[in-house]
Amino acid sequence: AAPAAQRTTAEWQAADAAHHLHPFTDFKALAGRGTRVITRGDGIYLWDSEGQRILDAMSGLWCVNVGYGQRALIDAATRQLETLPFYNSFFQTTTPPAIQLAERLAEVAPPSFQHVFFSSSGSEGNDTIVRMVRRYWDIQGQPNRQVIISRLNAYHGSTMAGASLGGMSGMHAQGGLPIPGISHIEQPFWFQLGQGMDREDFGRRAAAWLEARIVQLGADKVAAFIGEPVQGAGGVIVPPASYWPEIRRICDKYGILLVSDEVICGFGRTGRWFGCETMGVTPDLMTFAKGVTSGYVPLGGVMVGERVARALIDEGGEFQHGYTYSGHPVACAVALANLELIRGEGLVERVREDTGPYLARLFDELSAHPLVGEVQTCGLMGAIQLVRDKASSTVFDPEQSVGMLCRAHCFENGLIMRAVGDRMIVAPPLVITRAQLDEMAGLIRLCLDKTL
Ligand code: PLP
Repeated sequence: AAPAAQRTTAEWQAADAAHHLHPFTDFKALAGRGTRVITRGDGIYLWDSEGQRILDAMSGLWCVNVGYGQRALIDAATRQLETLPFYNSFFQTTTPPAIQLAERLAEVAPPSFQHVFFSSSGSEGNDTIVRMVRRYWDIQGQPNRQVIISRLNAYHGSTMAGASLGGMSGMHAQGGLPIPGISHIEQPFWFQLGQGMDREDFGRRAAAWLEARIVQLGADKVAAFIGEPVQGAGGVIVPPASYWPEIRRICDKYGILLVSDEVICGFGRTGRWFGCETMGVTPDLMTFAKGVTSGYVPLGGVMVGERVARALIDEGGEFQHGYTYSGHPVACAVALANLELIRGEGLVERVREDTGPYLARLFDELSAHPLVGEVQTCGLMGAIQLVRDKASSTVFDPEQSVGMLCRAHCFENGLIMRAVGDRMIVAPPLVITRAQLDEMAGLIRLCLDKTL
């Protein structure tokens, strides 16, 4: 093979098709079409092997919160690699970056969160959640509390437990999923399930589905409820404001643990450090990943609230769970630099007070477009629901793949936007400026026009 610097795009594509199986991909279809090779990033932009510049409105996979090319993160990784590239937190040892990051996370999380358990990804974090909530109920002398209630169209990862917690039917159709002890209820998706109803009434009704399921299963069988504050991969579904407080009330009524999956919503995405704060609730546990390092290196974990932490620490004995890379020092060093950058640049406040409201304004303007049935935003996440008939909110036949067509136009015109069915979604880096948001909205409008 030619040295990397000398390879043409066609050579990259041939080698990729010959050897590389991509995640969530139809391998044969991709080999026919050829992959796009991304070679470089700076700020909110990427470049491909043809030299085309692309505005990355998805922050990679919802993770590059501080944008590409941040020197502080690169230097933190380099320094830690030179000092100590690896040591573990098993068997009575740990490293300074792991301790410092745990300390720092306890500072930025809501006050009831003083402890953290590290993993390398969101999926592993949610596997940890399954183990931890069941262990908690063992310690309480209620081992029958095994069931974790989640929602259809949720995404909680790709490991066996993560994909089981998730509510993606396509994933459940493969590989013997879901594992036992997971129960799914409907999602708080007003556009699909609540049309004709007042949004807040619908939020309360969607929360009541949780109570109905708890009663049906028997509260003494239910360990926890898990949800993303705003469903990300499901299509940026922002629940009505009434939903989460009602979910918290129901969990309290039956003594059930509430888990907030903050893998996307954490670290400023919604305009607060954590999405649950935007939704006005305090959960018992939080999963995090992605934005904790802005995706520069893999890191995830679980923030453990005092109720669970006290039981595990005071009465639990050895917790028989962990990963080689729990608290990886290089990942933790990068996370510390990342959190310092987010704090120093005031990115959380900027999303809440400036760029988030500005994105909402731009999306409001796009809602007049004949293809658009609804727009939703929360901080720097946004969704545009494409419809066949605007007046009646009639959606397209899924076979028409209108979302995929729109996404293809974006791809050709230098914009990365995702399509979830016919819902076009964005989650740009938190460093994006108003002028860059204007550029993004202009490209979206162009691609909507081309899709018409
Ligand atoms: N939870 C949520 C809400 C996610 O969006 C994701 C990934 O997109 C995950 C968990 C899984 O994280 P990872 O891909 O790091 O395993």
